Amino acid sequence: MKSLLSVPLSELESRLALLGQPRFRAKQIQKWLFTPGVTQFEQMTNLPKPLREALSQEFTLRTMHVAAILGTETDPAEKFLLELEDGNRIEAVILHNEQGQHSLCASTQIGCAMRCAFCASGLDGVVRNLTSGEILEQFLFAADVLASRGQRLSHAVIMGMGEPTANLDALLDALSTVTSENGLGIGARKITISTVGIPAGIQRLAELDHPYHLAISLHAPNDELRTRIMPSNCGTGVSAILRAADNYFEKTGRRVTYEYILLSGINDAPENAKELAGRLRGRNALVNLIPYNPVDELPFRTPSREKVQQFAQILESYGIQIALRHRKGEKINAACGQLRRSRKDS
Ligand code: SAH
Repeated sequence: MKSLLSVPLSELESRLALLGQPRFRAKQIQKWLFTPGVTQFEQMTNLPKPLREALSQEFTLRTMHVAAILGTETDPAEKFLLELEDGNRIEAVILHNEQGQHSLCASTQIGCAMRCAFCASGLDGVVRNLTSGEILEQFLFAADVLASRGQRLSHAVIMGMGEPTANLDALLDALSTVTSENGLGIGARKITISTVGIPAGIQRLAELDHPYHLAISLHAPNDELRTRIMPSNCGTGVSAILRAADNYFEKTGRRVTYEYILLSGINDAPENAKELAGRLRGRNALVNLIPYNPVDELPFRTPSREKVQQFAQILESYGIQIALRHRKGEKINAACGQLRRSRKDS
């Protein structure tokens, strides 16, 4: 059966005409599609019953189902392993903050081709890109879960499995529905796209009429170190990434976030902090410090609290704005790709 989410409005209109329905039905149905908590045609109460039945013979409203859950609504993060129609599995995380806001961490690919040394998502490479429908459905899934609790999805980060700039057409297509007033109505300013740092992708994001917030996974202040832990840096380089980010800032006026995972003994030395400060000085930038979230198969370690504080203080002493991200997902294998790997054989 075809997912109604991937049927364009024009096609729905002609299908409804064949069923002898008035034109306005298509708009009515579209409205229901993006009403959180509506997952069955039965619930579309302003449609005639025979039409609801006809539609449910032909279309589905959801294609994914939950294969595993880690965490609960009282944890800062709840992680869902979602099984797609072809049996592949992806991760989607709902994050809850202290202000009572709820955010989705969405995936864009099954696996990842970037092979960052510290990340579980890329350990087995990439299987395929998600379709725009599959990306959109993660938003609907989160909105449904929250609606069942009387809560609302208000923010999103594209920081799940995959490299967003490697599947940008599908992502931007899905986000245009997410941000549309006729869709989920979540403003572009409330959505952050995180990239490993692909200048051409950053350039495209800079040119959007309604730009999303941009986060760049920097993780090292120089090419020697960065290429060692992020092979995608080879052939790109920190300077080109910073230039693309500066251009993004000039075009959009929006502050760029640099993510920096702290890996004990690898990139957490005071010299690394000083070098990072030197490279970012003069920029309107935020450095998001993320203590490494351990992955079973990987040899990296999380620095001590003191080491993290010291790194943060050095950056601050150079006037760099920082945020120290709590390890929200620690209890629930929230590092990208971990849950999927742990459930591979089950
Ligand atoms: N491919 C994109 C988005 C996905 S990863 C990117 O590279 O930005 C989202 C963030 O989580 C990235 O900054 C990534 O480097 C980081 N990350 C991956 N594995 C991690 C781990 N084990 N602990 C902490 N952060 C991790």
